[in-house]
Amino acid sequence: MLYGIRTLDELPLSGKTVLCRLDLNQPVDRAAGRLKSINRIEAAIPTVKELIAGGAKTVLLAHQGSDIEYKNFYSTKPHAEVLSRLLGQEVKWIDDVCGPAAREAIKALQPGEVLLLDNVRYVAEEQTLFERSLKLTHEQQAQTLLPQKLAPLAHYYVCDAFAAAHRDQPSLCGLEQLLPSAMGRLFEKEYGTISSIMDQPARPCVFILGGAKIADAFQMMETVLSRGIADEILTGGLVANIFLHAAGKKVGQGSLDFIEKEGYSAFYEKARTLIEHFGEQITLPSDLSWTEDGVRKEARLDDLPEDVAAVDIGCETAARYVQVILQAKTVFANGPMGVFEKPESEYGTRTVWETMAETEGFTVLGGGDSIAATEKYGLVEKMGYICTGGGALIRFLSGEELPVVKALRHGSLLPLAAEDRYHAE
Ligand code: ADP
Ligand code: MG
Repeated sequence: MLYGIRTLDELPLSGKTVLCRLDLNQPVDRAAGRLKSINRIEAAIPTVKELIAGGAKTVLLAHQGSDIEYKNFYSTKPHAEVLSRLLGQEVKWIDDVCGPAAREAIKALQPGEVLLLDNVRYVAEEQTLFERSLKLTHEQQAQTLLPQKLAPLAHYYVCDAFAAAHRDQPSLCGLEQLLPSAMGRLFEKEYGTISSIMDQPARPCVFILGGAKIADAFQMMETVLSRGIADEILTGGLVANIFLHAAGKKVGQGSLDFIEKEGYSAFYEKARTLIEHFGEQITLPSDLSWTEDGVRKEARLDDLPEDVAAVDIGCETAARYVQVILQAKTVFANGPMGVFEKPESEYGTRTVWETMAETEGFTVLGGGDSIAATEKYGLVEKMGYICTGGGALIRFLSGEELPVVKALRHGSLLPLAAEDRYHAE
């Protein structure tokens, strides 16, 4: 047991049927029926390999997209092809989640074989809108269709979907009520890494918070400052613009209009409160950059033209941040320093990210765009740790208990012999 959760070391796998929930959710090119990225599938491979090597009959469950983000709601068929290629063995796939066809396919599995079921979110109770509206307990989730149909066919439940650990859905939290459970290797690694940062970070511990997910950034900042986890916070992106305005500094009317339009004006007050309590530890930019006809311009705050929209930190700020990062023993980053997607506003993000790659301290990074920036600058191998889970990481670092961790602790206490309670051969 690690953190009160079983690991794969504790499951006798040979000949057993294992329901293994992964997070394979990726950007999809719907027209071509292809995945635009496969990094989460790659990250899931070690656990699947271990299940195969142990002689388990492996049933993989995964979601792709959801109701509210319709653009990437899709079947898991392309994932099965990628899995087959990465594993060097056929991963069977079936156009069904927990109906008769899926159940027949599970029963037909031989030891060492792998089957990927279709998108679990084709089942209503797996949808995030359903989760938010009904808020089922884990016991109630266990009574829904998917756990009721699939648990009787399996011996164990393994969850390796750390990136979905903040979701409260039956395939993530309900199956642990019915089957002896364990976490997979990716879950173990990701949870272990971020727990060690929260518990005993090597100091100085610096958080770099930028980007545009303001509510998340503010909550994270408040938690890591009030719990004494962060020694210093370097701000960038929209987060910095809000703090600067709250502190009475110039950021340009364009920045204020954007903040207003995005509905973030309420955060000025929160920013003032944070500055009041933790002002010494929150570092704000001293210069900002904007663009004119696609050309980068920058100025110190006092000299900023009235109407500009700041899209990056300036060179002076970046140079100050470089010094802080080089001295740090732990660096955590979420959210870019500016609109790094455009060449004229990528300087701040590129400089800070390159310094993270270079510093001796342990560096951790999470969030979709933050990872995209790391890939863009070719720094993936040089970061200490890249967390596959944006939402889960943020919830964890915000001090919330992750629903899947709670459920896994429960399922880790179900005795392994409980398999026979259910399993009908
Ligand atoms: P992550 O995905 O790493 O968690 P976010 O989604 O919070 O990061 O933020 C990334 C987005 O923020 C990018 O699309 C980037 O263009 C945008 N962004 C960064 N700085 C600014 C800024 N000053 N003004 C507007 N958008 C910004
Ligand atoms: Mg993002």
